[in-house]
Amino acid sequence: MDRDDASILDMVEDGVVVRDARGRVVGWNAGAQALYGFARDEALGRSIHDLLGTRHPLTVAEIERRLLADGAWEGEVARLAADGRALRVQVRWRVRRAADGAVRDVVEIGRDLGGLEREVREALETEHRYRNLFHATAASFWDLDFSGVRRMLEDLFNAGPVDPRAYFAANPDFLRAAIDSTRVVDVNDKTLEMFGVARGDLVGASIGPFWPEASQGVFAASLMAAIANRPNFVAETVLSRADGAPLEALLTVAWPTQNKGRGTVLVGVIDISEQAAARRALEKAQADLAHAARVAMLGELTASIAHEVNQPLAAIVTNGEAGLRWLGRAEPDVGEARVLNTRMVADARRAADIIARIRQMAQRGEPRREPIVIPELVAEAAQFLGHEIQGRGASLVLDLPPGLPLVTGDRTQLQQVVVNLAMNALQAMAAADSVRRQVTLRAAALGEGLVRVDVEDTGPGIPAAALPHLFDSFFTTRATGMGMGLSICRSIVEAHGGSIEARNVQDGGAIVGFTVPAGDVGGDDRLAGDPCAS
Ligand code: ADP
Repeated sequence: MDRDDASILDMVEDGVVVRDARGRVVGWNAGAQALYGFARDEALGRSIHDLLGTRHPLTVAEIERRLLADGAWEGEVARLAADGRALRVQVRWRVRRAADGAVRDVVEIGRDLGGLEREVREALETEHRYRNLFHATAASFWDLDFSGVRRMLEDLFNAGPVDPRAYFAANPDFLRAAIDSTRVVDVNDKTLEMFGVARGDLVGASIGPFWPEASQGVFAASLMAAIANRPNFVAETVLSRADGAPLEALLTVAWPTQNKGRGTVLVGVIDISEQAAARRALEKAQADLAHAARVAMLGELTASIAHEVNQPLAAIVTNGEAGLRWLGRAEPDVGEARVLNTRMVADARRAADIIARIRQMAQRGEPRREPIVIPELVAEAAQFLGHEIQGRGASLVLDLPPGLPLVTGDRTQLQQVVVNLAMNALQAMAAADSVRRQVTLRAAALGEGLVRVDVEDTGPGIPAAALPHLFDSFFTTRATGMGMGLSICRSIVEAHGGSIEARNVQDGGAIVGFTVPAGDVGGDDRLAGDPCAS
């Protein structure tokens, strides 16, 4: 065997041993070294059967006879490795003859049967484990045949350039057909229980009855994820049980690479009805609490509100009286009376606006999701505070740049946060008898699609020991405080997908501010990993 042959043989994983006519080893590849544990130098020149203590299934003479007659022999032999380990090796022998027909050598390819058996056993165990998992787990699993959908998508893309998202949105019939063409290959036992269906009625059937029309958007989103070659897709959605009852579900769709050829997908379903109900109850409790806090805050602001409403009312009275005087003259001055009347209308509108805002604050209702211009919201909140600020000898600075991105959320609740933070600032400055009393309301766009609102004061600042507890429920340092204000602010901000924090300013005073994501955030249609949601 020349050098080239040897290096090629080293690429073969099997143990390749070449022996001459007398049974002496003349070739020994890396696979043989790995299998038997002898280095090439140790093996070359030795009798193969002595070296490896081979025990054959037949007598050596019989095997030799068959080998020479057939030119080949194949069978299982027992051997000993260099370290004494007993090996079972599947060997294939081939005789190579010289031109004159004399035996030149015998090439043997050996494979460790123990290793193979181990691999098969391990594979079976793994398979068994996954089978057990598949059947015994508390989640429902569906192995679905997706090939029909794949064909539909191929036809769609072959027909010409198309934006799948827009196409799915415009063609609900296509989605319905895709859902109906998806068939059940296998499900686990939990699925039968969760969906109230018998295995016989499910395997081979379409998933159509289990996928209600209202959830077609989630199916579309999963298709988008598949088209984008994502490895999986997760979403909350509502499916249907066999009896038509809704099932609130956390859905995971995976496209395992091994399944690609078979065109199947693995879908997991976790029943989250209870969690969803608990979440709704929690959201309602939070909304109720926020409402109660708003009403309490309005109570604290009564003087401010009365003053705000009184001002235009007083102006109306003054202007009305003056108007009457102009009209009561010997020669009534209609022009003056018109001017005064116009002012009265404007003042009455102002009073009506204030009352409408207060009514909104006092209203209880489902949290809303509407586009909000943050600087407008902050400016409106400031109007609640006008008298409160004056009454405490403070001044207000508004730093509200135009052009901030919109935020989606509940306007009244976010306004409540701003008013609350500003009230805290005023109370802190008054309690500390601060000489300089200034509240700054500042809005800014941060990178990464965030909008920030800060309320800064020139008060005593927050004691270091209080900082970690500031947002805890019932934490207060005020004798008449409830300690719920900041805790409610935090739950409102977090429900908007944001965060709230407090820090001290270097030369006295505190900044309490929050950050919320810009754009369309949160809400019931929130989908983890949903490419259609962004
Ligand atoms: P309450 O106003 O009822 O005390 P909050 O949750 O609104 O409840 O506030 C909790 C505590 O946080 C206050 O008692 C006060 O000690 C502290 N705090 C809040 N805002 C400020 C501020 N701007 N400066 C100093 N301390 C503050």
